[in-house]
Amino acid sequence: MILVFAETNGKISKAALEAASYGANLAKQNNTSCTLVTYGNNNDLNLFAKHGINKILQASALQNPDSAQLSKLVVAAAEKENASTIIFSHDLTGRAVAPRVAARLNAGLVSGAVALPEANTIKVNVFSGKAAAYVEVLSDKKVISVMPNSVGITTIDTSINIESFNPETGTAKVIVKETKKNEGEISLPEAELVVSGGRGLKGPENWGMIEELAKLLGAATACSRPVADIGWRPHHEHVGQTGIAIAPNLYIAIGISGAIQHLAGVNRSKVIVVINTDAEAPFFKAADYGIVGDAFEVVPKLIESVKKFKAAAN
Ligand code: FAD
Repeated sequence: MILVFAETNGKISKAALEAASYGANLAKQNNTSCTLVTYGNNNDLNLFAKHGINKILQASALQNPDSAQLSKLVVAAAEKENASTIIFSHDLTGRAVAPRVAARLNAGLVSGAVALPEANTIKVNVFSGKAAAYVEVLSDKKVISVMPNSVGITTIDTSINIESFNPETGTAKVIVKETKKNEGEISLPEAELVVSGGRGLKGPENWGMIEELAKLLGAATACSRPVADIGWRPHHEHVGQTGIAIAPNLYIAIGISGAIQHLAGVNRSKVIVVINTDAEAPFFKAADYGIVGDAFEVVPKLIESVKKFKAAAN
């Protein structure tokens, strides 16, 4: 039996659906069923029936748990279901809870899987995606955290059974006092289209055209690390080895050189478009489409073309 842990607060995230898809495909591979354990009061849990989940254990009594409580919840669910493998998303919560669960169950832990197991071997990205390691877990029980944006969401129709599940998880030792959402912005890790700017844009006053292009396309905005470090853009937009890793359908890189540390966060994008004045910029090697040109000439032309295209389509 495969158990998936997913957070389902608010709108069910791409990362939660990816973890569920991974668990369901693994269950199919092993001719077994897949249960998902979550907490809180989400009423849209039936959505998981499209992604191969057979049963949901919902800990509705648990609100704002810390990682110690979550690990107790997942261990109780794993014991109840006699799970052989437990799947997490390799996101902030997964990275905190998966090792605790592995320790409690005396299970082997694979951290940051990017593919389903093949012949008992699981592929994991190492060195910021510049290399891959193939690992085998020797213990009976396994805990796997799945790198967001690496395996995709698959559709497997099932009928789902939602059970209330409220085991003893103790009290929280850490509480979230306040959460502030960035109103109106498209969440970068979840975005399918991303427009990103680098130091080639010369200064924060030139980001108007990046924001305009992103708004027209319905895209999120991102930036290179130095741009965030010097305060031209907020840090939550920084992508790369030390920032967020993304895998949108389209990544438009404007005035970014394409250093390996930047590529580490964006090289799983489906289509990469690079706009750079320097034909020798390393980013062109990773690009599907490249424009050698000045961003201050190319981007306004792109904006005009998108506007014309949208007007013609209406
Ligand atoms: P630059 O390297 O200065 O490149 C600017 C580019 O803009 C150039 O290619 C130039 O030809 C082009 N350009 C100039 N004018 C124009 C114009 N008018 N129109 C179009 N193009 C123009 N970086 C990250 O981004 N993310 C990370 O997570 C990250 N982590 C790091 C971790 C470590 C340990 C280290 C050492 C570095 C890290 N870096 C990271 C920094 C990285 O090595 C690069 O320095 C950085 O990505 C460069 O940013 P950039 O491309 O915006 O700037």
